[in-house]
Amino acid sequence: MSAQQSKKASGQSAGRKTSKSAAKAAASERKLRGTPASRGIAFGRIRFLKRISSSPDRSSIRDPAAEIDRFEKARVHAISQLAALYEASLEKIGEQNAVVFQIHQMMLEDPDYVNSIHDLIAKEKVNAEYAVDQVARRFERNFRSMDNDYMQGRASDVVDISRRVNEILMMHSGAIKSKSVRYESSGEPVILATDDLAPSETVQLDPVHVTGILTSAGSTRSHTVIFARTMALPAVICLGDENLTADLEGHEAIIDGATGTVIIDPDKKTAAEYRERKRTDDTQRAHLEQFRGRETATRSGRRILLYANAGSLADLDLIKASDAEGIGLFRSEYIYLSSSDFPTEDYQFDIYRKVLREMKGRRVIIRTLDIGADKTADYFMLKPESNPAMGLRAVRLCLENVPLFKTQLRALYRASVYGRLGIMIPMISSVEEVKRVKEICKEVQQTLTAQGIPWSDKVEFGIMVETPAAALISDELAPLVDFFSIGTNDLTQFTLAADRQNAGLAPYLSASHHAVLRLIEMTVRNAHTAKIWVGVCGEAASDDNFTARLVQMGVDEISVVPSNILRLRAAISTIG
Ligand code: PEP
Ligand code: MG
Repeated sequence: MSAQQSKKASGQSAGRKTSKSAAKAAASERKLRGTPASRGIAFGRIRFLKRISSSPDRSSIRDPAAEIDRFEKARVHAISQLAALYEASLEKIGEQNAVVFQIHQMMLEDPDYVNSIHDLIAKEKVNAEYAVDQVARRFERNFRSMDNDYMQGRASDVVDISRRVNEILMMHSGAIKSKSVRYESSGEPVILATDDLAPSETVQLDPVHVTGILTSAGSTRSHTVIFARTMALPAVICLGDENLTADLEGHEAIIDGATGTVIIDPDKKTAAEYRERKRTDDTQRAHLEQFRGRETATRSGRRILLYANAGSLADLDLIKASDAEGIGLFRSEYIYLSSSDFPTEDYQFDIYRKVLREMKGRRVIIRTLDIGADKTADYFMLKPESNPAMGLRAVRLCLENVPLFKTQLRALYRASVYGRLGIMIPMISSVEEVKRVKEICKEVQQTLTAQGIPWSDKVEFGIMVETPAAALISDELAPLVDFFSIGTNDLTQFTLAADRQNAGLAPYLSASHHAVLRLIEMTVRNAHTAKIWVGVCGEAASDDNFTARLVQMGVDEISVVPSNILRLRAAISTIG
């Protein structure tokens, strides 16, 4: 929240009177649009979150050593509070989410953060509260400026831990008497409005009173949003300071977390319409929740593996919360796209190891570099091509630049001992390519062995079937690999000669076109003849009707965006 807005929202009585009378006047309905962050429809009265002293005053101190000691005591106290919060939130948001409070403890131990505060107190002889606030703002700015969704999402974490320390400092000094976070409520449903809600504030909300969340800033990758989804709290974020203004305090509102719509002072007709939608939505959700923790199977009991697609580490929390049985496509190119230079072997190894560890033995299929076409990074210095989608991309680029490919393969094989890894090669169009990739893998394995570096011989080796050529020769390819994963996005564009980036061609891009279906059918048949499993990881697999077709064709695995997992498990359970 900007300083200006926090003042506006600080609950001064004059402001409150004005907003209450405004709310009482028969205000006409209006709409705001933000970023949809957590699905669901919520009704309630908007109440702004009030934080005492969002920016502590600067004051001079005489004894920096004593001030650092004061900060240290508060820091230790904060760490013990977070340990208790971790325990208390286990049930509410699950272990995989509550772990953020362990991460917060680690952030409070981070030497960079802690030393920056010590230095500021020592050098400028300022009070601890001010030093904490200044350092938090600097870290927050740095995180927000990073060209990486995951790191941007960490900005609210650093604000959260710093606020906690400052609250303790202020309670100890008597500057505040109780916890600084409050909102007005007379027992009626509340839609909580704020600049950006911290993860620890979110988890402590009482879902009986708070029905939804509105924020002017935020990130869909933040823990706050992930928690809101887990707690089934509808949320709309990034509304902007200019829209989420303090004069909305006390107004009736409806929020639709699926579309990012906020209706202020809804009229009777709109309210009735949304009430009906909410009823349908709640019934559907309750129905889907029954499928959590269950295996995916058809009505006749045939097992289907239902996996999730991932773009980066940031997706892990969502994937775990989605109840996916594994990761069917980890698009490793995002590691390259979010770096300013070629990512090193160690950097990649850390990421792959983390994914494998966190998936705890569930299958993780990591696709090797699929750069080129619409996915480019300057440092690759790719030559301009008139048809980049059909150009030097993906496996072709890796085979032209074997050292680059080997760096990734070494990182993958080194990580393979930490879980159940599958390596998948994109854009295959010939038998020779697969044979050459296998030779390179063998060389990597031999070098690792010679260097005494462990790797697992259980790694599965597979290819994407996303060119018509691969589908047509799938009988020749199948004996060379452990699995196929059909990429319907590219398979459709290449089969139907319709550029997937060209929005105007959407009517031509149907994965249900008989030409595409025949290629899929052929691929599945050839995979099964060679006794290997076959999956589908393109977007079309998220469509209930298309999924039903895939299952009927004999597909063994389906990988989709995490939010579709429970819906598809329910849909598959109805297939005969
Ligand atoms: C595909 O082509 O279907 C696929 C899953 O890969 P991408 O969308 O990343 O090209
Ligand atoms: Mg593809």
